[in-house]
Amino acid sequence: MSPLITLDAVEKSFGNYHALRGISAEIGAGEFFSLLGPSGCGKTTLLRAIAGFEPPSSGTITIAGRDMAGVPPNKRPTNMVFQSYAIFPHLSVAENVAFGLRRLGLNPDERHRRVGEALEMVGLGDLGARAAHALSGGQRQRVALARALILKPQVLLLDEPLSALDKALRGHMQAELRRLQRQVGITFILVTHDQDEALSMSDRIAVMFEGQIAQIAPPTELYRRPKSRQVGAFVGRMSFVPARHLGAGRCAVEGLGEVTLSESQAPDGFDETGVIAIRPEVLRVLAPGEGAGKGAHLTQAQVEERAYGGETTTYRLRPEGSDAVLEAVMRNAPGRPLHKPGAKVQLAWDPSAFLFFK
Ligand code: ATP
Repeated sequence: MSPLITLDAVEKSFGNYHALRGISAEIGAGEFFSLLGPSGCGKTTLLRAIAGFEPPSSGTITIAGRDMAGVPPNKRPTNMVFQSYAIFPHLSVAENVAFGLRRLGLNPDERHRRVGEALEMVGLGDLGARAAHALSGGQRQRVALARALILKPQVLLLDEPLSALDKALRGHMQAELRRLQRQVGITFILVTHDQDEALSMSDRIAVMFEGQIAQIAPPTELYRRPKSRQVGAFVGRMSFVPARHLGAGRCAVEGLGEVTLSESQAPDGFDETGVIAIRPEVLRVLAPGEGAGKGAHLTQAQVEERAYGGETTTYRLRPEGSDAVLEAVMRNAPGRPLHKPGAKVQLAWDPSAFLFFK
């Protein structure tokens, strides 16, 4: 991967507040890259620094081989789509999109052609003449995208672009955005605090906490091999069960007994005491009479709580004779029984997907 954007030790302070603390990363040409983290961790600040709206206090931002220090936003090969996409309600859709071109001084024919192209790209080809105030939320979002893409930036910066949309539309627009990114082939940097959104859309994700990047990885790696307990807890769900390391990867796990893990299952190394981290799909709640499958471990547990979610049911379980609490998610396949709180169940599991954290 040849980096299009290089962030090197980027720092940003607002008065005494240290919003970015030594951010270093490389983002590739044509990559869909997401910045994921809790509210206030510095995602928007970093995006604005890349766009040129927020000069770093120190460190360098290089785009396409050029140091961006002192380069104003409109001279950068970037364009930004904001959280509140400022659409002009009194203008038509086409006029809103053409607004992105105002600085270029193109002749009317060329302008018309570029607007048509951009509207096609976002699936609004037929709506150019419509008044912008008569658009749905999803359509407005597309207008904002068309207006940003019409300048043919090398990098599109998106600050929570879907947060104003309802859940169904949001899912639809996520797929659209991904399709659009593949089609135009430019680099997208998306800011989101929604882990599902980041996992489903990105080539790579940078997880940020308190102004620092905790991990950069593709979605599957981030989910399966989070580098720290904090990342694991933020990206997807995890149960953490107290454990003691007995040596050579052997661990005594509360409620589950002894397991042996490999080095790679302890991302921050083994220590005498720690936790075993378990994703909810790694545990299976067996139906009465169901076999556990070859090599699976079995544990008796009691259902503490159950949350029915249509496609899946989430169980909170306590292994017999322990205080450990485990979360398991089961698909509600036809005919599969639901277990009530208080029920005793058999839990089948395989430690190969367990992780140890200090
Ligand atoms: P959110 O998801 O809530 O938008 P974020 O991760 O994007 O959060 P930022 O908006 O980057 O977070 O803000 C990071 C921190 O910097 C916050 O504590 C914020 O209050 C602070 N901050 C951001 N901009 C300024 C500013 N112009 N002046 C002072 N503090 C600021």
